[in-house]
Amino acid sequence: MDTPFAEAKPILQKLHLEGYEAYFVGGAVRDSLLEKEIGDVDIATSAEPHEVQRIFTHTVDVGAEHGTIIVLFNESQYEVTTFRTESEYEGFRKPKSVTYISSLKEDLKRRDFTINAMAMDINEKIYDYFDGKRDLENRLIRTVGEPSERFAEDALRMLRAVRFVSQLNFTVSSNTVEAIKDNVHLLKEISVERKTVEFIKILKNNHYQVAIKLLIDTNIHKYLPGLETCRQQLMSFSCLPLSVLNNEEIWALLLYKIKPASVESFLRLWKLPVKLIKHVSKMLIFIDYLSEQKKWTTELLYSAGIDIAVSVERIFAIVNDCYDEKRINKVVEQFSRLPIKSRRELVITGHDIIKLFHKRPGPWVSAALSSIEKEILSETLKNDREAIKEWLLTCNLNFEQNY
Ligand code: ATP
Ligand code: MG
Repeated sequence: MDTPFAEAKPILQKLHLEGYEAYFVGGAVRDSLLEKEIGDVDIATSAEPHEVQRIFTHTVDVGAEHGTIIVLFNESQYEVTTFRTESEYEGFRKPKSVTYISSLKEDLKRRDFTINAMAMDINEKIYDYFDGKRDLENRLIRTVGEPSERFAEDALRMLRAVRFVSQLNFTVSSNTVEAIKDNVHLLKEISVERKTVEFIKILKNNHYQVAIKLLIDTNIHKYLPGLETCRQQLMSFSCLPLSVLNNEEIWALLLYKIKPASVESFLRLWKLPVKLIKHVSKMLIFIDYLSEQKKWTTELLYSAGIDIAVSVERIFAIVNDCYDEKRINKVVEQFSRLPIKSRRELVITGHDIIKLFHKRPGPWVSAALSSIEKEILSETLKNDREAIKEWLLTCNLNFEQNY
């Protein structure tokens, strides 16, 4: 038994002791049969959520109304979900309510693809009612049951099919692809948040190039925020080496290719975290600066900061087809030689300057700090309190004139 399953075995044992059925299900079973590294181990059980909460000491209620309780055990967390059907689908998305059932087979039947619809018991016996193993061997993504019906129940599954292409480098079965083409408009009903999760996985997994091609061929992109008319740009984006980039850099590169009217509005459409939106927006500003200036000047490097500078250099090199780690190292080296790396390193503060001039605070203080930074960066002034004070007093007049 693979280690992650062995570690989770006591959870199944405990549920059995209480008289319930319990199995490992979904992605972990799939990945173990593929002899791939196993991600999260999910468990399906005949115990209802309140019973799971009673049986285990440490639980988190993340979606009891959908049958899911997280069990915290030995520093790991496990999603324990009650066998259920999803009979009432509302508006082509997640079910409004769930019905608990007593059969494993029924639970597996509501799952999206055959390769995700297998279970494994405590003795490693595999339960495969829908030929998931055969599809694993044939490297095929196929819905459990009629694809059009399954996509009408939950349209996100169409995007998930593409996500598994990127993750596994499998082919989507031809009638599943046809059903995606026929039902793609149903993606209109799906929340942005759910689309974002799958889209990020498409971009971050190894086989993004084939996946993006499928996304375009099936017209899924027409139902993704801000990408409705970006077929060509997506195609050229898919040919770039995304695997060397982190999450934020991938978004920045996508935006560089798409060139939307507003970077922030585009990222807001995807409901991404504010911190990421700010970071990516800053990257794009510096990509433009670097494109204009062609090289990192001392001031450009300083105002970007090391994280943005490295990311921007990476993206700049990729779009100019000259990506090389040495280029990145050179930027890191150049940054390390800067006399100061940020305003925080200045030995003098705004407060000190106000005291020195006996004047009221105002925009002149920030202007003074900027001038000091400029002098220090060009190495005409040392980052030394006395030297800075002396320098400031000699240009006192200039500040008076300006402010
Ligand atoms: P990964 O290893 O990347 O997490 P996964 O197969 O575990 O892949 P999840 O999104 O974590 O994928 O979902 C867990 C399981 O829940 C799936 O394997 C599948 O059986 C089921 N599932 C998830 N989303 C859906 C859906 N929209 N419709 C039907 N079944 C789903
Ligand atoms: Mg999972």
